[in-house]
Amino acid sequence: MPSAGSTQKRKQFFSFNKYIWNALDWLYPPSCCSCGRSGVIFCEECQSSIMKIKGNLCISCGIHLRKKQTKCVDCLENPPIFREMRSWAVYEGSIREAIHSLKYKQNIALGHILAKQLINVINQSNWKVDLIIPIPLSDSHYKQRGYNQSALISRFISKSINIHHSNDAVVRVRDTKTQISLDIKERFTNLDGAFWGNPAKLNTRSVLIIDDVITTGATMQSCAKEVIDAGAKQVYCLSVARAVLRTSKQK
Ligand SMILES: [Zn+2]
Ligand SMILES: [Zn+2]
Repeated sequence: MPSAGSTQKRKQFFSFNKYIWNALDWLYPPSCCSCGRSGVIFCEECQSSIMKIKGNLCISCGIHLRKKQTKCVDCLENPPIFREMRSWAVYEGSIREAIHSLKYKQNIALGHILAKQLINVINQSNWKVDLIIPIPLSDSHYKQRGYNQSALISRFISKSINIHHSNDAVVRVRDTKTQISLDIKERFTNLDGAFWGNPAKLNTRSVLIIDDVITTGATMQSCAKEVIDAGAKQVYCLSVARAVLRTSKQK
């Protein structure tokens, strides 16, 4: 439990931030990142159209299962290195627009809105986490963008639920080609040796990795492997959205 002093400091931090955001909203009126409606950065209608990922999910990787099973064939055949992987929504429609806006249009206030949804997912889980980290960006992407969109989300989660955060417990040590045109096997090869986990920060920790989107899961799995190799006890993976495109036989 946080102390009364730390709770007070967090309250002050959030009210100060609120003041700044209100001032910016007055100077530059926002518009919905998905439909363009003015006055809000992500309107209620667009948010309510988001398709959440729920129902009967594989207890390991979180994909939908048609039958009343607890684990998908892939996880049974090749148990993943992470304990659980979950995503809040299907990567399509307005959530796709929101993530695109957060990533490429400097609409960084969306990070807080999306983080709140992930806090709900965490609160409904039975995860035991003592360190939260974002999927790191490559140096070239960071220089180009000026921020890591996953870190905006993970830092807000960390402050809200009072769990330690690290930006550099895992770093990208190698630039990788864009994954878009690669098949699943090529994606894993492309990520070989891309991350490095710092044992001084990860040893014996129970780690939650945050990303904006999971496509095939190759990035999360490569990062999770580094976290475990660096001595972490267990690792959980969570993203805002997930592209639901793999069949149960794909990894
Ligand atoms: Zn809208
Ligand atoms: Zn699975």
